[in-house]
Amino acid sequence: MSTEASKNSEVLLRVEHLKNYFPVRQGLLSRVAAYVKAVDDISFEIKAGETLGLVGESGCGKTTVGHSVLRLITPTEGRVLFQGKDLSHLPAAELRAMRQDMQIIFQDPFSSLNPRMTVGAIIGEALAIHGRGDRKERAEMVRDTLQKCGLDPAYVNRFPHEFSGGQRQRIGIARALVLNPKFIVCDEPVSALDVSIQSQIINLLVELKERYNLAYLFIAHDLSVVEYISDRVAVMYLGKIVELADSTELYRNPLHPYTQALLSAVPVPDPTRRKQRTLLPGDVPSPLNPPSGCRFHTRCPLAIDICKKVEPRELDVEGHKVWCHVVEEQITGSRPSS
Ligand code: SF4
Repeated sequence: MSTEASKNSEVLLRVEHLKNYFPVRQGLLSRVAAYVKAVDDISFEIKAGETLGLVGESGCGKTTVGHSVLRLITPTEGRVLFQGKDLSHLPAAELRAMRQDMQIIFQDPFSSLNPRMTVGAIIGEALAIHGRGDRKERAEMVRDTLQKCGLDPAYVNRFPHEFSGGQRQRIGIARALVLNPKFIVCDEPVSALDVSIQSQIINLLVELKERYNLAYLFIAHDLSVVEYISDRVAVMYLGKIVELADSTELYRNPLHPYTQALLSAVPVPDPTRRKQRTLLPGDVPSPLNPPSGCRFHTRCPLAIDICKKVEPRELDVEGHKVWCHVVEEQITGSRPSS
């Protein structure tokens, strides 16, 4: 889905060395006993009109990344720059103004819409908060946005419970779109929907992206969905990005053993083709006490001694980034020293 426009565009969002540690408190005095390292030193950028897919198993930290870039949670360390401005240093009024350009679509279309508000009030709320137009103009903007999202403008006076899951997610998309943002975090927007509805929502997101030059951070655990919508894909494991590449390149030539295992589990729509599935042993370790060295070493079929002691560094092969000692040795011919 890589477009020429997005390839040549300016960087819209830059994330530098982002960390999110959540304290675990214990005892009568609620002393901090440990930290859950949900996100641990990750960096990436997204250009205007580009979609970056962020994939990984549940609990790998991808939703925390999405919420951090919007400053719905404050990062422990690192910087998030939107259009060159560091969000952590913006005065509250400027941050609120900036939020008009940065929106989110939530995973669950059932719990993310207030059941006591009409569709018109849900979508129009942000317009009122940001002082856009008068009452009549706002109502017109709401109806127009409903139409853009494939819903009948006459639905404005209905309540969320009157709609199906797919329609509710369209309302969630309309709520994110009504302010004409430049960037939207799509936090697993189709994983709560029936498979038959998923493709309709994905197609709507693709159509809106192309029509309004939107940039997405598209968070998902389904690699086939991410391939279809993304220009580039980042794979996360236990708070770290382990591979990041152009979407076509990543699916054709996955380098990291974890990416290879995830891709081996994606079903192929061809009964004559059989795929060798790589089954990873054990569960994802706790981010409370992540393994030393490479965090994947407890499950990796290629792990060698150094993997337990030394964290892999970034290897960048013409924009295809990977963090793995064995891949580094295969590509550069030299083994990283412990
Ligand atoms: Fe596996 Fe070692 Fe590479 Fe980590 S660094 S993915 S443990 S081979």
